[in-house]
Amino acid sequence: MKYHVDQNGYYGEFGGAYIPEMLYPNVEELRNQYLDITSEASFKEEFESLLRDYVGRPTPLYFAKRLSERYGAKFYLKREDLNHTGAHKVNNTIGQILLAKRLGKQRIIAETGAGQHGVATATVCALMGMQCVVYMGEIDIARQAPNVARMKMLGAEVRPARSGSRTLKDATNEAIRDWINNPVNTHYIIGSAIGPHPYPDMVTRFQSVISEEIQKQLQEKEGRNAPDHIVACIGGGSNAAGAFYHFLDNEQVNIIAVEAAGKGIESGHSAATSALGKKGIIHGCKTLLMQTEDGQITEPYSISAGLDYPGVGPMHAHLYASRRAEFISITDDDAMKAGLELAQLEGIIPAIETAHALAIPEKRPFRKDEIVVINLSGRGDKDLNTYIDHFKL
Ligand SMILES: *Cc1c(COP(=O)(O)O)cnc(C)c1O
Repeated sequence: MKYHVDQNGYYGEFGGAYIPEMLYPNVEELRNQYLDITSEASFKEEFESLLRDYVGRPTPLYFAKRLSERYGAKFYLKREDLNHTGAHKVNNTIGQILLAKRLGKQRIIAETGAGQHGVATATVCALMGMQCVVYMGEIDIARQAPNVARMKMLGAEVRPARSGSRTLKDATNEAIRDWINNPVNTHYIIGSAIGPHPYPDMVTRFQSVISEEIQKQLQEKEGRNAPDHIVACIGGGSNAAGAFYHFLDNEQVNIIAVEAAGKGIESGHSAATSALGKKGIIHGCKTLLMQTEDGQITEPYSISAGLDYPGVGPMHAHLYASRRAEFISITDDDAMKAGLELAQLEGIIPAIETAHALAIPEKRPFRKDEIVVINLSGRGDKDLNTYIDHFKL
């Protein structure tokens, strides 16, 4: 179990809970209860039935025949893009809202950058009839109008963060401030495998349904329950954590984590945390993050809003440091090309985040008989304008 979280909330030297003292009771309540609550039979039943009937799980494991012919290996796509709301994020928000209900909370808060996690949170709040406040940087509100409209339509209140760079990190600060002021009735739904312990482990467990299904589906299709390689893109690391989870201790399975190189690792416009990051503390955990010599967090850049994050979840920092996973970074241009190629080879338009993972067959050779599963984290509808601008469609 050396790649899973330990008793103290660490993955190797990464993780932990580095939080202001005033937040301690909230996080402690979660830490004391998350494993007990999520292992109750009634919790599992409700989680599984919502994943099935509301989200649309299991998602297919699709053998991509034309992609496989082009790149000379057996490529399977795990179709998280077919989930309700168009990506994997809803697996986590369903799990967390069921947990919040059992903790007696009536109010949900969340932070969002591009708005995808805000929409997934607003969706489950509508489903459960819970009050929902989403903090979002003022700049992001202006850039992401369709997602702001979705959240409002779903009944959420979108509160602008007006301090600092007016983006994700400022929205996160506002959400934490809100939580400190409302410790009893409010649960904070974090959107990726980041944050203070137990969040990374909790989010990873909810997302681990992805690799659980891959095991069963590969058994049916190939007569074996593990691929040779599992590939996923990494922003904060939740879809990757879910896709890797059941393969972590099987060292026969090569893990490939794909980061956003932006305009190039050396360009100063990138989000390639493992290549550029150093140890530091962000959003309540010790991990790798991009920072200046004197420890100021560097503004990340990627063409995909979901990978535009200066850190990486502590599990992934450990997978990198222990060399359990291969880390590869993909530029904007290569990701966009891979997105267009998947559309034309397989009739699937992927999210630009996912397109980074789809660039791997072009970047890295595989043997003809090898089975490679790529986690298709989301659909590209939200990215159509970026595709249009990039390719002059
Ligand atoms: C949010 C998002 C990501 C990045 O988040 P992770 O927590 O790293 O998974 C990747 N793909 C899609 C489609 C997303 O919406």
